[in-house]
Amino acid sequence: MNDKGILIIISGPSGAGKGTVVEQLKKDDSYMLSISATTREPRNNEKNGVHYFFKTMEEFQNMIDNNKLLEYACFCGNYYGTPIDYVNENIRNNKVVILEIEVQGALKVKEIYPEAVLIFLTPPNMEELEKRLLGRATETPEKIELRLKRAKEEFDIIDKYDYIVINDSVEKAACDINCIVKSEKMKACRNLNLKHILKGDN
Ligand code: 5GP
Repeated sequence: MNDKGILIIISGPSGAGKGTVVEQLKKDDSYMLSISATTREPRNNEKNGVHYFFKTMEEFQNMIDNNKLLEYACFCGNYYGTPIDYVNENIRNNKVVILEIEVQGALKVKEIYPEAVLIFLTPPNMEELEKRLLGRATETPEKIELRLKRAKEEFDIIDKYDYIVINDSVEKAACDINCIVKSEKMKACRNLNLKHILKGDN
């Protein structure tokens, strides 16, 4: 069966628990997380090159001008983008490459890579989302308000996604994503080479 690289995109509102679910997936070393570039200020616990590549607006613009980004988008006043080389290299190495990006970027990637799998990760409801964002306390109340507003806009386009995963337990959400990846790899359109093998063609 197909063991070629695959690109999966995990989107979902701030506070959906994308980071935690991705950490769980990465325990399997076939999963590789692409590290994005951003113009956002680092949070207290964040390290350059680990959580993000933190850039000035000028550096970010340079990356755009030199075609170093697969996609980029502005989210709540900051720019975020996916470095293209890492994605291409890991797909070539037959990895499951994860992009943890917001919806505008996800839709752009789907245009470039139609075979990319779009997964929307969401908490069970808005109350839970609010509770998680407030509990995390990494943003000012104004920024939390902005992110909640943005979450509602993102819910409006979930029909563009291939799968919706509800994150009410990290282990279960990671397990659901594993099942998605497994089934995607078994899709007939990803295994057309089998046709010749099964027919016994030389
Ligand atoms: P945060 O500031 O909470 O780290 O991220 C804000 C949003 O930006 C999240 O929805 C996150 O998934 C998204 N994001 C992170 N990296 C990228 C990227 O490279 N491209 C795009 N389009 N969105 C990103």
